[in-house]
Amino acid sequence: MRRPIIAGNWKMYKTVSEALDLINGLKQELKGETAVDIVVCPPFTALSKVAEAAKGSNIAWGAQDVYWQEEGAFTGEVAPKMLTDLGCSFCIVGHSERRTYFNETNSTVNNKVKALLKHGIVPIMCVGERLEERDSGKTFNVVSDHVEGGLKDLSGEEISKIVIAYEPVWAIGTGRNATPQQAQEVHKFIRDLLKKAYGGDVSAGVRIQYGGSVKSDNIRAIISGEDIDGALVGGASLKVKDFAEIVRQSKK
Ligand code: PEP
Repeated sequence: MRRPIIAGNWKMYKTVSEALDLINGLKQELKGETAVDIVVCPPFTALSKVAEAAKGSNIAWGAQDVYWQEEGAFTGEVAPKMLTDLGCSFCIVGHSERRTYFNETNSTVNNKVKALLKHGIVPIMCVGERLEERDSGKTFNVVSDHVEGGLKDLSGEEISKIVIAYEPVWAIGTGRNATPQQAQEVHKFIRDLLKKAYGGDVSAGVRIQYGGSVKSDNIRAIISGEDIDGALVGGASLKVKDFAEIVRQSKK
């Protein structure tokens, strides 16, 4: 039985004081919620304060990106050990906004996944097709390319530690949702890919989140899919009541 995981991607929102208001509100609202793994991913600037505030609670924290080198002259980048230093247990990689605006490729995603695993941080690896790719029947090609490219050269043991987020790009921040059937179809496809490559035990344990305009009024239908193990939430993770309600509605 896979434990549901709901992660909030705060993107480039929230100053430190706004981030503190949000995490303190979530702590209050979600006190005692133990059936779901809850993660927040604030911007780097707010991470250490959010980490202090969330310590000892049922809310874990993570980053939205990482660089794969140990350290060095890489202006503007953040190394995995800087994240472990703040108690990060998760890190999003390969988000479509990073693929689109910052030239993230399967190969850079793969480097980041490996570096995170080496440092004991769980990668939340995002995969998903654009609208024109879906419309031209390429969804499964794109998704398998993202999954296989991002996970290249990893062992089954390593794969069992990661989280995959299926995020159709056309559903991110658009208010347009994949139907629960469309989501389940791709999630099953991903799990079958993992099964073929790493075997049934590994594929049965990997958590696959859905992402794309998830709200409190659609999460129940989405999470009812057999292969859907939670959600990566953007816009609706920025408000205490909205995110807390998504968490509450995510029990399997
Ligand atoms: C995301 O940023 O990963 C996301 C799914 O955003 P939204 O929920 O706003 O569509």
